[in-house]
Amino acid sequence: MINLDFDGVCVDFIGTAKTFGIEVTQNDFNVWSWDKISPEEFYRRAELQPWFFKLWDALEESDHEFKFLTKDFPEEKHSLLWRHGIQFPKTDVIGAEKKEIYCRRPYDVLIDDNIDNCKAWSKAGGIAYFFDLAQPDPFADFLSWWNVKADEANFPGSEKC
Ligand SMILES: [Mg+2]
Repeated sequence: MINLDFDGVCVDFIGTAKTFGIEVTQNDFNVWSWDKISPEEFYRRAELQPWFFKLWDALEESDHEFKFLTKDFPEEKHSLLWRHGIQFPKTDVIGAEKKEIYCRRPYDVLIDDNIDNCKAWSKAGGIAYFFDLAQPDPFADFLSWWNVKADEANFPGSEKC
């Protein structure tokens, strides 16, 4: 199972925050608070990352199942996907404070822009890809990795479960 983080990887969190006049520093995950704006308002306005549909295609073209795994507000994020024409089941947008509880098999994958989530996932025994937004082209980096790793030989067992 591929587990896809939402904020940062799929949604331009920093750019959206800016439209509300809120400055956020890259890769700083502990300073955000919902004091100034509600999650409903935020995700109603949130924009997808420019690479989102290419990322979507790459995942869909693979033989792997995937879900969204996000820390919070899965309903708002599910609505955002539908507004952008992505008809994804509500049950496949999962909210979990500790994502690693969904790491159940060695070939479960997490794609996340928060290095701490990636470390916790790896520690739980899964495969984590750190989607580093501080890099000049994080999606190109991801594709280089994905085009090798999505080969079933590199996710052993994924076709059998
Ligand atoms: Mg994120």
